[in-house]
Amino acid sequence: MKLMIMGPPGAGKGTQAERLVKELDITHISTGDMFRAAIKEGTEMGKKAKEYMDKGQLVPDEVVVGMVKDRLSQPDCAKGFLLDGFPRTVAQADALSTTLDQMGIKLDGVINIEVPRERLMARLTGRRVCKKCGASYHVLFNPPQKEGVCDNCGGELYQRSDDNEETVANRLDVYEAQTQPLIDYYQKRGLLININGDQDIDLVLQEILEALKK
Ligand SMILES: [Zn+2]
Repeated sequence: MKLMIMGPPGAGKGTQAERLVKELDITHISTGDMFRAAIKEGTEMGKKAKEYMDKGQLVPDEVVVGMVKDRLSQPDCAKGFLLDGFPRTVAQADALSTTLDQMGIKLDGVINIEVPRERLMARLTGRRVCKKCGASYHVLFNPPQKEGVCDNCGGELYQRSDDNEETVANRLDVYEAQTQPLIDYYQKRGLLININGDQDIDLVLQEILEALKK
Protein backbone atom coordinates (compact mmCIF):
# COMPACT_ATOMS: atom_id res chain seq x y z
CA MET A 1 0.00 0.00 0.00
CA LYS A 2 1.23 3.45 -0.92
CA LEU A 3 -0.52 5.95 1.26
CA MET A 4 -0.55 9.45 2.60
CA ILE A 5 -2.08 10.67 5.86
CA MET A 6 -3.43 14.10 6.82
CA GLY A 7 -5.18 15.45 9.87
CA PRO A 8 -5.44 18.61 11.96
CA PRO A 9 -3.55 19.16 15.22
CA GLY A 10 -5.24 17.13 17.95
CA ALA A 11 -6.77 14.58 15.55
CA GLY A 12 -4.43 11.79 16.65
CA LYS A 13 -2.70 11.50 13.26
CA GLY A 14 0.63 10.52 14.83
CA THR A 15 -0.90 7.63 16.78
CA GLN A 16 -2.82 6.35 13.77
CA ALA A 17 0.23 6.62 11.51
CA GLU A 18 2.31 4.54 13.94
CA ARG A 19 -0.35 1.86 14.24
CA LEU A 20 -1.12 1.78 10.55
CA VAL A 21 2.47 1.18 9.42
CA LYS A 22 2.74 -1.68 11.91
CA GLU A 23 -0.56 -3.19 10.83
CA LEU A 24 0.23 -2.98 7.10
CA ASP A 25 3.99 -3.55 7.44
CA ILE A 26 4.85 -0.47 5.39
CA THR A 27 7.46 2.25 5.91
CA HIS A 28 6.53 5.43 7.77
CA ILE A 29 7.95 8.51 6.08
CA SER A 30 7.53 11.44 8.39
CA THR A 31 8.97 14.43 6.58
CA GLY A 32 10.42 15.93 9.75
CA ASP A 33 12.44 12.76 10.43
CA MET A 34 13.36 12.52 6.76
CA PHE A 35 14.72 16.08 6.81
CA ARG A 36 16.83 15.47 9.87
CA ALA A 37 18.20 12.19 8.47
CA ALA A 38 19.07 13.68 5.06
CA ILE A 39 20.93 16.54 6.71
CA LYS A 40 22.73 14.27 9.15
CA GLU A 41 23.77 11.83 6.42
CA GLY A 42 24.86 14.75 4.23
CA THR A 43 22.99 13.60 1.12
CA GLU A 44 23.05 15.98 -1.85
CA MET A 45 19.51 17.15 -1.14
CA GLY A 46 20.25 17.28 2.57
CA LYS A 47 23.16 19.64 1.94
CA LYS A 48 21.01 21.84 -0.26
CA ALA A 49 18.27 21.98 2.36
CA LYS A 50 20.77 22.87 5.05
CA GLU A 51 22.11 25.80 3.00
CA TYR A 52 18.64 27.36 2.93
CA MET A 53 17.93 26.59 6.56
CA ASP A 54 21.25 28.07 7.70
CA LYS A 55 20.30 31.29 5.93
CA GLY A 56 16.94 31.20 7.67
CA GLN A 57 15.17 30.70 4.35
CA LEU A 58 12.34 28.39 3.43
CA VAL A 59 13.56 25.20 1.71
CA PRO A 60 12.22 25.33 -1.88
CA ASP A 61 9.69 22.72 -3.03
CA GLU A 62 12.11 21.20 -5.55
CA VAL A 63 14.56 20.39 -2.75
CA VAL A 64 11.87 18.96 -0.49
CA VAL A 65 10.44 16.87 -3.32
CA GLY A 66 13.98 15.77 -4.19
CA MET A 67 14.40 14.54 -0.64
CA VAL A 68 11.09 12.68 -0.76
CA LYS A 69 12.16 11.11 -4.07
CA ASP A 70 15.48 9.95 -2.57
CA ARG A 71 13.64 8.50 0.40
CA LEU A 72 11.04 6.69 -1.71
CA SER A 73 13.86 5.15 -3.79
CA GLN A 74 15.24 3.34 -0.78
CA PRO A 75 14.60 -0.42 -0.64
CA ASP A 76 12.41 -0.29 2.49
CA CYS A 77 9.77 1.67 0.55
CA ALA A 78 9.27 -1.08 -2.04
CA LYS A 79 6.86 -2.91 0.31
CA GLY A 80 4.76 0.25 0.63
CA PHE A 81 4.88 3.51 2.55
CA LEU A 82 2.88 6.07 4.46
CA LEU A 83 3.78 9.69 3.72
CA ASP A 84 3.13 11.88 6.75
CA GLY A 85 3.55 15.66 6.86
CA PHE A 86 3.94 16.16 3.13
CA PRO A 87 2.74 17.69 0.84
CA ARG A 88 1.55 20.86 2.52
CA THR A 89 0.61 22.88 -0.55
CA VAL A 90 -1.00 22.18 -3.91
CA ALA A 91 2.26 23.14 -5.64
CA GLN A 92 4.05 20.46 -3.59
CA ALA A 93 1.26 17.98 -4.32
CA ASP A 94 1.68 18.66 -8.05
CA ALA A 95 5.44 18.25 -7.87
CA LEU A 96 5.03 15.05 -5.87
CA SER A 97 2.52 13.70 -8.36
CA THR A 98 4.97 14.30 -11.25
CA THR A 99 7.78 12.62 -9.29
CA LEU A 100 5.65 9.60 -8.41
CA ASP A 101 4.64 9.26 -12.09
CA GLN A 102 8.31 9.33 -13.11
CA MET A 103 9.06 6.65 -10.53
CA GLY A 104 6.13 4.52 -11.67
CA ILE A 105 4.51 4.76 -8.25
CA LYS A 106 0.74 5.03 -7.92
CA LEU A 107 -0.77 6.27 -4.65
CA ASP A 108 -3.50 4.00 -3.27
CA GLY A 109 -5.13 6.61 -1.10
CA VAL A 110 -4.93 9.74 1.01
CA ILE A 111 -6.27 9.25 4.52
CA ASN A 112 -7.87 12.38 5.95
CA ILE A 113 -8.70 12.17 9.66
CA GLU A 114 -11.63 14.45 10.46
CA VAL A 115 -12.57 15.70 13.91
CA PRO A 116 -15.19 18.42 14.53
CA ARG A 117 -13.60 21.72 15.40
CA GLU A 118 -15.19 21.99 18.86
CA ARG A 119 -13.77 18.57 19.75
CA LEU A 120 -10.31 19.62 18.60
CA MET A 121 -10.62 22.79 20.67
CA ALA A 122 -11.53 20.73 23.74
CA ARG A 123 -8.62 18.34 23.19
CA LEU A 124 -6.06 21.06 22.49
CA THR A 125 -7.02 23.53 25.22
CA GLY A 126 -7.40 20.95 28.00
CA ARG A 127 -3.81 20.77 29.21
CA ARG A 128 -3.08 22.12 32.70
CA VAL A 129 0.36 22.41 34.23
CA CYS A 130 1.40 22.68 37.87
CA LYS A 131 3.04 25.99 38.76
CA LYS A 132 5.17 24.36 41.42
CA CYS A 133 6.35 20.99 40.10
CA GLY A 134 5.50 21.17 36.38
CA ALA A 135 3.28 18.05 36.42
CA SER A 136 0.98 17.95 33.42
CA TYR A 137 -2.77 17.12 33.38
CA HIS A 138 -5.60 17.20 30.89
CA VAL A 139 -9.13 18.17 31.91
CA LEU A 140 -10.60 15.43 29.66
CA PHE A 141 -7.99 12.69 29.47
CA ASN A 142 -6.04 12.97 32.69
CA PRO A 143 -7.83 15.22 35.18
CA PRO A 144 -6.42 15.92 38.63
CA GLN A 145 -8.42 14.56 41.58
CA LYS A 146 -9.38 18.07 42.62
CA GLU A 147 -9.98 20.66 39.91
CA GLY A 148 -7.15 23.16 39.58
CA VAL A 149 -4.94 21.44 42.17
CA CYS A 150 -1.87 19.27 41.56
CA ASP A 151 -2.17 15.66 42.81
CA ASN A 152 1.60 15.51 43.42
CA CYS A 153 2.28 18.64 45.39
CA GLY A 154 -0.98 20.55 45.90
CA GLY A 155 0.32 23.34 43.65
CA GLU A 156 -1.95 25.50 41.53
CA LEU A 157 -2.62 24.34 37.95
CA TYR A 158 -2.61 26.81 35.08
CA GLN A 159 -3.11 26.86 31.33
CA ARG A 160 -0.06 27.74 29.23
CA SER A 161 -0.48 30.57 26.77
CA ASP A 162 0.08 28.26 23.78
CA ASP A 163 -2.85 26.15 24.96
CA ASN A 164 -5.33 28.99 25.24
CA GLU A 165 -8.44 29.27 23.06
CA GLU A 166 -7.15 32.07 20.89
CA THR A 167 -3.80 30.44 20.08
CA VAL A 168 -5.38 27.07 19.41
CA ALA A 169 -8.13 28.62 17.25
CA ASN A 170 -5.40 30.34 15.23
CA ARG A 171 -3.48 27.11 14.74
CA LEU A 172 -6.64 25.40 13.52
CA ASP A 173 -7.46 28.31 11.18
CA VAL A 174 -3.98 28.13 9.66
CA TYR A 175 -4.28 24.38 9.24
CA GLU A 176 -7.70 24.61 7.59
CA ALA A 177 -6.68 27.37 5.20
CA GLN A 178 -3.56 25.46 4.20
CA THR A 179 -5.19 22.06 3.92
CA GLN A 180 -8.57 22.64 2.28
CA PRO A 181 -7.00 23.09 -1.20
CA LEU A 182 -5.12 19.80 -0.70
CA ILE A 183 -8.30 18.03 0.34
CA ASP A 184 -9.99 19.32 -2.81
CA TYR A 185 -6.96 18.29 -4.86
CA TYR A 186 -7.04 14.67 -3.73
CA GLN A 187 -10.83 14.52 -3.73
CA LYS A 188 -10.83 15.45 -7.43
CA ARG A 189 -8.35 12.67 -8.12
CA GLY A 190 -10.51 10.12 -6.33
CA LEU A 191 -7.85 9.41 -3.71
CA LEU A 192 -9.36 11.01 -0.60
CA ILE A 193 -10.49 8.70 2.20
CA ASN A 194 -12.30 10.62 4.96
CA ILE A 195 -12.09 8.97 8.36
CA ASN A 196 -14.05 9.85 11.50
CA GLY A 197 -11.38 10.69 14.06
CA ASP A 198 -13.91 11.51 16.79
CA GLN A 199 -14.11 8.00 18.23
CA ASP A 200 -12.00 5.55 20.18
CA ILE A 201 -8.50 5.22 18.67
CA ASP A 202 -8.98 1.49 18.03
CA LEU A 203 -12.14 2.24 16.07
CA VAL A 204 -10.37 4.91 14.04
CA LEU A 205 -7.76 2.37 12.99
CA GLN A 206 -10.47 -0.17 12.16
CA GLU A 207 -12.29 2.36 10.02
CA ILE A 208 -9.08 3.13 8.11
CA LEU A 209 -8.34 -0.57 7.49
CA GLU A 210 -11.93 -1.19 6.33
CA ALA A 211 -11.80 1.77 3.97
CA LEU A 212 -8.51 0.54 2.47
CA LYS A 213 -10.05 -2.82 1.61
CA LYS A 214 -12.51 -1.13 -0.75
ZN1 LIG B 1 2.67 19.96 41.39
